[in-house]
Formats: sequence, C-alpha cells, structure tokens
Amino acid sequence: MFKRIDKLIIDLPKPDHPDANAAAAVQELLGGRFGEMSTLNNYMYQSFNFRNKKKLRPFYELVASITAEEFGHVELVSNTINLMIEGTTFPGDPDISPMQDAKDKRNTYHFIATAQTAYPMDSMGASWRGDYVVSSGNLIFDLLHNFFLEVGARTHKMRVYEMTNHPVAREMIGYLLVRGGVHIIAYAKALEIATGVDMTKMLPIPDLSNRKFDAARKFEEQGLHRKLYTWSDTDYKKITQIWKGEHPTEGGLLEVVPGTPEGGPIPNLQELPEEFAPGISEEDFLEIAKRLQRSAGL
Ligand code: MN
Ligand code: MN
Repeated sequence: MFKRIDKLIIDLPKPDHPDANAAAAVQELLGGRFGEMSTLNNYMYQSFNFRNKKKLRPFYELVASITAEEFGHVELVSNTINLMIEGTTFPGDPDISPMQDAKDKRNTYHFIATAQTAYPMDSMGASWRGDYVVSSGNLIFDLLHNFFLEVGARTHKMRVYEMTNHPVAREMIGYLLVRGGVHIIAYAKALEIATGVDMTKMLPIPDLSNRKFDAARKFEEQGLHRKLYTWSDTDYKKITQIWKGEHPTEGGLLEVVPGTPEGGPIPNLQELPEEFAPGISEEDFLEIAKRLQRSAGL
C-alpha cells in the first residue's frame, strides 16, 4: 500500500512569466510514451505482477521502491506545467474575451478542459495509454525494457530542456535528469547481477554527461546522482544488494537512503475567475467557513 506525504519532491521556483507553449512541450515528459506516467505505471504493474518475490526479493524491491519515486515525479511534472501556464489569461467579464490569448497556444485543452493545469496527455494532446506498459512477467525482459524506458525518458528530457529556458521547466528537468540517471544505472546493475552483462559500459545514452546541463549540475554537486531512496520507513532495504559500489561514470560510492528526500512545499495555485476555477466566491467561502465551524462544534 501507499502512504502519502503532502510535499513536492523538490522546491520549485516562483515563475515571473508564463509560457503556455513551453508547458505544452513539457506535457511530453508527463503523458508521452517515455513520460513519468509511463515510468510510474510500468514499475507499478511490474511490482504488482512480480512472480516469486521471495526468491528474487532484491529485484522486486528495486522495482517497487522506484515506483514510489515515479509517483513523485508525476506530481513534480504536473506542478511544473501548472506553474508555467499561470498568468496567460486575465480575469474579466466574458464579453471582453479574457481568455483571448489562449486561442493561439499549442494546447487548447489546457484552457478549455483543465483550467490551465496538467493532464495525462503528450505534447500533441494525445492521451497517455495503458499499452505503454510492459509487464511481460519475464524478469530480464522487464528490466531491459525499464533500462530502455529510462534512456528514452532521458533523451526526451534533454530535448525539452533545449526547447525552453523557462526557470520552472529547467529546475524540474535538471532534477529529473539526475534522478533518471540513477534509475538507468539501477536497472543496468540489476541486469548485470541477473545476467553478467555490464550495461553501464554503454552509458551515458545520449553520450552527453548530466554535468553539461547547468540545472542538473547543482543536483549532482549535492550527490543526488549517487543516492537511491527506499521510500519507506522500514521496507525495501534489500535494494542495497543491487545499489552498491562505484558510480560507473562519475565515480563516488553509491548509497541507499532509507525513507524519502526532504521535499519542498506544494505550490498554491491562484484562483482563475475567467475559468470559474475553483468557482467559490468570497460570499460562498464565508458560508462554507461557517458550516465547517458548526460541524466542528465551534
Ligand atoms: Mn521519473
Ligand atoms: Mn525513473
């Protein structure tokens, strides 16, 4: 089962300008074939469906614990998209067309369907699909697929990074390049233990270090490229049997951290009267506050 913490995996900067078209590109990293919805659901189903968890415990625990991290990545990319769209439109009477600037943006679902927030779709507006999940039941096949999936995710992140210098997008991508790099090596090491083949010799793919990205370098300087979290107070500690030794490309010792990163605050999204979102007026709010007080016996 899952326990939820009301924090974002990192602190995101407050944007000083919107860029809805860049947010549309970032959707690929959420709901594209190689996006966070795909990594989450691949590892989640593989962990549910894993056969002989007793015998193959460290492999099961690796996939299960990374699942929890990917949930946090879905939350991080979603919040990034939300912060990047905010400020594209202005409040006003319907007759002055307060959302006139939205009609020329790449993704009009952001304005018509979701009130300027993230949705499980790719950069072209196509829905995320369940058949992006590979849960073959064959351990080597699944680990190889996960390695491939993380390499694809890294490639797409590098390309979106090159498409936008929006500070919120850069912060998110910088962090996820580092964390995705950890997952690539984790699956490579799992494959090496399972088969004897050293997958790390072909890394990095693409052949460009995370250190070439300003926004990633600061997270590597904190050593985040060497840490794998358990995402649990008590469980998944057998991942230490896989996540050990030297970092294959950067050097330094790999380290399993029990629990979660510290995290940062969840951004508070502004009201959008022109979208009727959340659609609670000041008078409504005062009435709701009274009802809440009454039901609390105050
Ligand atoms: Mn991820
Ligand atoms: Mn990952």
